[in-house]
Amino acid sequence: MSRTVAFIGLGHMGGPMAANLIKTGHRVIGHDLVTAAVEAAAGTGVEPAASAPEAVAGADVVISMLPAGRHVLGLYDDILAVARPGTLFVDCSTIDVADARTAHERALAAGKRALDAPVSGGVVGAEAATLTFMAGGGEREFAEARPLLEAMGNKAVHCGGPGAGQAAKVCNNMILGVSMIAVSEAFVLGESLGLSHQALYDVASTASGQCWALSVNCPVPGPVPTSPANRDYRPGFAASLMAKDLGLAANAVHEGGVHAELGLRAAELYADYAERVGDSEDFSGIVRTIRNRSGE
Ligand code: NAD
Repeated sequence: MSRTVAFIGLGHMGGPMAANLIKTGHRVIGHDLVTAAVEAAAGTGVEPAASAPEAVAGADVVISMLPAGRHVLGLYDDILAVARPGTLFVDCSTIDVADARTAHERALAAGKRALDAPVSGGVVGAEAATLTFMAGGGEREFAEARPLLEAMGNKAVHCGGPGAGQAAKVCNNMILGVSMIAVSEAFVLGESLGLSHQALYDVASTASGQCWALSVNCPVPGPVPTSPANRDYRPGFAASLMAKDLGLAANAVHEGGVHAELGLRAAELYADYAERVGDSEDFSGIVRTIRNRSGE
């Protein structure tokens, strides 16, 4: 069924996601604060709207893809009253679990429906429509959003009630941040022991050390030719985004009183690393910091 979708936030992720909705026959009315982003989206068939309220006024579904929770809550304050009763709000941004739950509450209080549906897969996945969506909200809302999510990705998992999508995202990325540091430390330890990168890879990638950080995004050049280490750590998944996601995980760890020492330490290490490299380096480049600091 073709839907009329208001798409707010047409940046690196939102732009190609909106384009994929159009390719699958949906009508998309888009808005972004940056004119260049709106113009680029218009080139893919998005109908530009001068403001977010204008974009949502006639929409069946509102999808947002914004930087952080404060942007999403600010947007909802601007548009909830304008949207038609029962409109489904799907927020695909990566935001705090607590902010996601607040967004659900505000949508419901305004007579609308909501789903949090953050993604994994990066800009490459957004362009190729191979994102994985992890959704939180009601069964009905998930079922209604599913065809749209599948137009932008190849997997959509319903994780539970409000905020459960964001919860899955922070837990997954906490595993990823910690495992990338562990793999990087192991390679640097191997170097100091005279072990070649290839030998460690050949053993660990088929033994109990196997994980995505090693076998797909290997932080040293050579063993996995497609990993960012082979192109001087050009992202990929930028260090700044990993720092952001680990910050969200750390907030949730503190709020829940969870004893997660490695997750919190990974958040500190990535915050420090991202402060230096921002979005210019893939998060696997942290191996160079570990190597440089060894022997200090
Ligand atoms: P981006 O900065 O490229 O895009 C965000 C866009 O939102 C910008 O164009 C900005 O102008 C716009 N915007 C901000 N406030 C707005 C408002 N009130 N109204 C309209 N537009 C507004 O960021 P991105 O890389 O597209 O990431 C978007 C979200 O997706 C983030 O939450 C990020 O954590 C998440 N994410 C990104 C990646 C990735 O690889 N880039 C991967 C997974 C998840």
